Amino acid sequence: MNKLEDILKDANWCLGCIAKPCSNACPMHTKIPEFIEKIKENDLKSAYQLLIENNVFTHVCSLICPQENQCEGSCIRSIKQESTKIGKLEKFVNEWAISNNIEPKIPVVNNNFSKKVAIIGSGPAGLSCAFELAKNGIKSTVFEKENELGGVLYYGIPDFRLKKDIIENIIKILKSLGIKFKLNCSLGKDITIESLKKEYDYVFIGIGAEVPSIYKLTDESTNAIFDSDIFLRAYNYNNYIKNLGEVVVIGGGNVAMDVARSAVRMGAKKVSILYRRDREHMPARNVELDEAITEGINFVELTRVLSANVDNEKIKSLNCIKTQIVDGKAQDIKNSEFIFNADTVVFAIGLSPNKELLVQEGLELTQWGTIKVDEENQTNIENVYCGGDVLENKSVVCKALASGKKAAESIFKKANGV
Ligand SMILES: Cc1cc2nc3c(=O)[nH]c(=O)nc-3n(C[C@H](O)[C@H](O)[C@H](O)COP(=O)(O)OP(=O)(O)OC[C@H]3O[C@@H](n4cnc5c(N)ncnc54)[C@H](O)[C@@H]3O)c2cc1C
Ligand code: SF4
Repeated sequence: MNKLEDILKDANWCLGCIAKPCSNACPMHTKIPEFIEKIKENDLKSAYQLLIENNVFTHVCSLICPQENQCEGSCIRSIKQESTKIGKLEKFVNEWAISNNIEPKIPVVNNNFSKKVAIIGSGPAGLSCAFELAKNGIKSTVFEKENELGGVLYYGIPDFRLKKDIIENIIKILKSLGIKFKLNCSLGKDITIESLKKEYDYVFIGIGAEVPSIYKLTDESTNAIFDSDIFLRAYNYNNYIKNLGEVVVIGGGNVAMDVARSAVRMGAKKVSILYRRDREHMPARNVELDEAITEGINFVELTRVLSANVDNEKIKSLNCIKTQIVDGKAQDIKNSEFIFNADTVVFAIGLSPNKELLVQEGLELTQWGTIKVDEENQTNIENVYCGGDVLENKSVVCKALASGKKAAESIFKKANGV
């Protein structure tokens, strides 16, 4: 069977359900039965067009969305058999469009709108907001503190999962829509919400969650303990960390998997993921853990790292304890302490928004440290909206895209006095 026959077989598996449970479960409401129908008709150009005009990140989503919890998890087929391979089909259409140099045609409403929007942060939330606004004829400028655009998709998720040129293609499309970008421009330093409000009618905040969670392992000084953000940036910017030796990654989410696999590529002698719960309760996608294990990474479940033994600024080993799951939570097992060898430790146990900066900017926060919004994604400051990880903890790309889109729709409605 050649590749196209294989794809047609997968497309023909889709029943084209009128109720579209798959689309309803997708935060971006991708037109799933519709684009699959176009594949069945061998009209790949229209399939691509349907995908990209709804979601400029379609290629990214096809590669990294947890489809098993979203579209594929709700596919009617999955009740009795295998779900339709929506992610595989979406990926195929996007790769076909690239290899055939297909230029997307984004429908833009030409309404000479005079309102201007400032978008802070160029991750999926900010860029999705800019894309939706542009489609509605509203001009926006994206302010980004880094020298590159794309947020976590650029400096967080490694290239073996998401190639940088995919992000660059998206930026090209956004620039062609007239969206402006200002790099190396940081909220709280170079700009403030107040200063932007003087020049712009609306502000969107999409600065993500960058503050890593860590806990104290030792009183001794050592530079062999990292957080996931620093570690992944070192890999993504090609500033490899040397002499990693035996690496222990603490955590059980996708970030932990990315850290572990990046450690292998940076030359670690051995890499272990130590997770306090078990595989069943871990947030990482099964496929990510399987790939990590295939690459030789040692997965140690039901283990909590207590402290590090440090000598002369070097980590010698870790003191750990075994755990058990009680009511879904990890509980230490008495007298089960043991020693685990390590030279380097990386924390990958969560990231949260920069509370200090948000409060300094006058934003009201929830008890979880995310920005408090109304049902339109508007913050406590009039005409200031937000979306993405700054709004929702432990989120995923598709949800960040959807909240950026929702804020853009709210801005559009408000600008039109609806
Ligand atoms: C390592 C890793 C792996 C992941 N893997 C997956 C996955 O496989 N599948 C999935 O669906 N999701 C995954 N996620 C989650 C997903 O990447 C995020 O949910 C998503 O990127 C959030 O988008 P965002 O736009 O809110 O924030 P971000 O992507 O964090 O973008 C925020 C942007 O704001 C900029 N910024 C921050 N502060 C300022 C400031 N003061 N001034 C100006 N700009 C600022 C940042 O530089 C950045 O460009 C992963 C996350 C990480 C960290
Ligand atoms: S639920 Fe499954 S079978 Fe039905 S339209 Fe969606 S992908 Fe096709």
